[in-house]
Amino acid sequence: MFTLETLNDYFLSEKYKDNKCKTIKPPKYINIYSDALKVINSNTTSVNVSNKKNHSNFVNAASFFKSVLKKVFNPREQQDIHEFIRLFLSEIQDELNPLLDKRSSLSQIGNSDAKWESHLKKNPSIIDTLFSSQLKTKIQCLECKKFREIYEIFLDFSVPIVKVNDQNNKKNEPTSKEPAFSIYNCLNNFFEDEVISEYKCNFCKKIVKSKKQMSIAISPKILLIHFKRFKTFPRKQKISDKIDFPFERLEMKK
Ligand SMILES: [Zn+2]
Repeated sequence: MFTLETLNDYFLSEKYKDNKCKTIKPPKYINIYSDALKVINSNTTSVNVSNKKNHSNFVNAASFFKSVLKKVFNPREQQDIHEFIRLFLSEIQDELNPLLDKRSSLSQIGNSDAKWESHLKKNPSIIDTLFSSQLKTKIQCLECKKFREIYEIFLDFSVPIVKVNDQNNKKNEPTSKEPAFSIYNCLNNFFEDEVISEYKCNFCKKIVKSKKQMSIAISPKILLIHFKRFKTFPRKQKISDKIDFPFERLEMKK
């Protein structure tokens, strides 16, 4: 997070102080994050961790961050990085987003664009602006062919890890040149169509088979992906292998 320029500029320029509206929670995590950023930037003007001096500031900030967070998290309980980032982002959201009167809340009905607009009006925080995306789930009845579409907001995607040859090509072993794990295979698997065997169709009122298709209707500016490294089936194991991903331009068009 410390290397995300837009996010850091927002906190370093203290733009969050312009927020005059009543929020769900008073600032606490905002202050933790801003203070850590100030430690990083104490001798520099930009966050560049490859620079030696900046690297030492970065380490100082990390330990500062850790010590402050010890006061927030129970150190005796196991927390993984995904739980941490989810909690951290949602706390900053709550400290920035306005407290809305539920009766006057904006409409949830409409198409993808209308729902997206409504979401950003209700949640104008920098966290929503940078990380949120809209996921579309289409469920089609395989009997009457009618379908419904659901739009949901996500801040991150929790994606199972699949091997290159797990997906389409179960018989072939991967060649030595192919990485065993690739972000594209994990994403393809995550977004693969699924047949639901017992689905109560609201149109034909029968228990039928249906097809579920997920896709990203509106992409986030910054995509957060959590790889599920722990598998429980067929046996409990951790997948520690590296996952191949492009350093620039992740192709999400498929
Ligand atoms: Zn139906």
